[in-house]
Amino acid sequence: MDFLDIHNHKVATQPGVISIQSLSLTSDIFLAMPKTKPISVGLHPWFAKVEHLELQMKYLTVVATQTNVKQIGECGLDRLRGEKLENQILILEKQIELAEKLNKPLILHCVKCFSELIAIKDQLKVKVPMIIHGFNKNETLGHQLLGKGFLLSFGLAVLKKDSGAAKLIQSTDSFFLETDDADISIEEIYQAAAILKKCTVDELKARIFTDWNKLNLKN
Ligand SMILES: [Zn+2]
Repeated sequence: MDFLDIHNHKVATQPGVISIQSLSLTSDIFLAMPKTKPISVGLHPWFAKVEHLELQMKYLTVVATQTNVKQIGECGLDRLRGEKLENQILILEKQIELAEKLNKPLILHCVKCFSELIAIKDQLKVKVPMIIHGFNKNETLGHQLLGKGFLLSFGLAVLKKDSGAAKLIQSTDSFFLETDDADISIEEIYQAAAILKKCTVDELKARIFTDWNKLNLKN
């Protein structure tokens, strides 16, 4: 059974790891998009500009239909970086629309905008899975988001015993794991999570893999 690294920015692939490399069309647009390895593509809130939205959505709409594109994103909202929030919401909503059309999960970046994100999910009645990556806020917010039907992915923070991510792992049975841009292997993240969960790495791999297969609505 392979490790699943649901979100990272690494180019290299490793044996034994299914790694979903996240590419932002706004900064990687001139690179040829990989055609076979699993990737996610989207307009990252740090780089996306509303003035380029129409053109970039045209590219994204074409690229996102590739079968190796497993998720749309990372996309999302960031109160500390990028365009003003109003524009970020517009950019996100376009990508949600596309994800719904293609029936592919969304991988979300969210900084200090959780109430806005919940409101968008409610308003648009989003049906595709919405995975918030790199989640490390408190347990209350984590459970609120899970209750709203979001999925959470944890990264490096699981190594710190009293982090929000580490606490949430102990109080939920459904989460994904990722390396994002951290200089750490996915094996180490799984090992730390398995200790918190009081299960074996193999059990964790099997559970995550089953959940991942359920999300792959198409392909
Ligand atoms: Zn990332």
